[in-house]
Amino acid sequence: MAEELNPFKIAQEQLDEVAKIMELDEATHQMLREPMRTLIVSIPVKMDDGSVKVFTGFRVQYNDARGPTKGGIRWHPSETLDTVKALAAWMTWKTAVVDIPYGGGKGGIICNPKEMSDGEKERLARGYIRAIGRFIGPEKDIPAPDVYTTPQIMAWMMDEYSKIMGYNTPGVITGKPHNVGGSKGREDATARGGMFVLREAAKFKGVKLVENKENTHTPPHELMELPDEIPTGDDVVKAAIQGYGNAGYYAHLLLTRMFKNVKVVAVSDSKGGIYNENGLPFREVFKVKRETGSVTNYKDGKKITNEELLELDVEILVPAALENVIREDNADRIKAKLILELANGPTTPEADRILHKKGVLVLPDFLANAGGVTTSYFEWVQNINGYYWDYPEVYEKLDKKMSDATWDVLNTLKEYNEKGKEIHCRNAAYIVSVKRVAEAMKTRGWV
Ligand code: GLU
Repeated sequence: MAEELNPFKIAQEQLDEVAKIMELDEATHQMLREPMRTLIVSIPVKMDDGSVKVFTGFRVQYNDARGPTKGGIRWHPSETLDTVKALAAWMTWKTAVVDIPYGGGKGGIICNPKEMSDGEKERLARGYIRAIGRFIGPEKDIPAPDVYTTPQIMAWMMDEYSKIMGYNTPGVITGKPHNVGGSKGREDATARGGMFVLREAAKFKGVKLVENKENTHTPPHELMELPDEIPTGDDVVKAAIQGYGNAGYYAHLLLTRMFKNVKVVAVSDSKGGIYNENGLPFREVFKVKRETGSVTNYKDGKKITNEELLELDVEILVPAALENVIREDNADRIKAKLILELANGPTTPEADRILHKKGVLVLPDFLANAGGVTTSYFEWVQNINGYYWDYPEVYEKLDKKMSDATWDVLNTLKEYNEKGKEIHCRNAAYIVSVKRVAEAMKTRGWV
């Protein structure tokens, strides 16, 4: 049977499943099934050729029971309101699972930034902020980067908002460049947070990872200088990474620097993948990616497709690209023991069930990639206080948040399964988050 791949339907289906397991009351369930507020805006932008193009943008504020809504802005040619709604729902669960004082939101603009000049991008960024300006703010809704949006774009948006307000307002947006209030460590936070989740989950699953403690809280620019040492030995753990954007390439760096026995054997980007059973050295692959635009131009590896990468004989699989890549039709062929979802929504509900039956531990997106928003929270705290932290302080705090969240989820998984209620890891993460949001709504007197 063909699966329904509308991301919002998937998000609702995931919630419905746990609502039943948790015996959630009807009003709470209804509130959590739909966003609290949805904005659709038209943004006129003067293009370089003198024409005016009108872009459509969205901002969805899903739930703010636990604090101001928080979540990134995607710029994508095939952006849809339903994608933004789904991602806003997942942000609600993400901020709750790591227990930071936010709700969930998400934004998007239908556009192709790859075909736009810097000037056009800046005018679009500023136009979007003018359109949604009244609905966002450091105490209301705080955007951040996501697919195809960058620290520079965040800087333009923060500047536009500050102009509207008449004073500097760095806390309105996170993921900014360091020189205008961005936090140290935000750049690799998604992948770094994922490593902490993986480290803890590996203990739970009985996969032996040897942590290189010297590197655990070392900044990425220092880790990049270290030579590549590919582990050999009997205890080698193999990993494959799909996607080589911000999450994917930092995952390659960190997997090889934070653990002494992890060998990354495959990586990919939108043009395809490369595989070498003897391991892929980070520095060389990264250089090829930076200089040629694709990892597939790296010579010392066999070319594989993105689909083949998912089915490789590895212990750790890291989907760090797009949605719905692990589905009913390929889940059965996946050999990994641990899946670390750095992308949002890579696994469909049917695939979740298949993987669970096979004994694969899927570390769900809103836990695995919550390091990004957790460091965004640290950025906002620093902006509000006007006092800035150095790298180790950020990473120590991130480590604690991610490790605690991972054990909250794994202990819930264990507890339910011991009670005979069979659930998978995504259900467990939902249970932790939904409980927190539901309790906040109850305390506020909404339900
Ligand atoms: N876009 C990122 C996410 O999906 C980060 C959001 C944020 O920092 O607010 O988690």
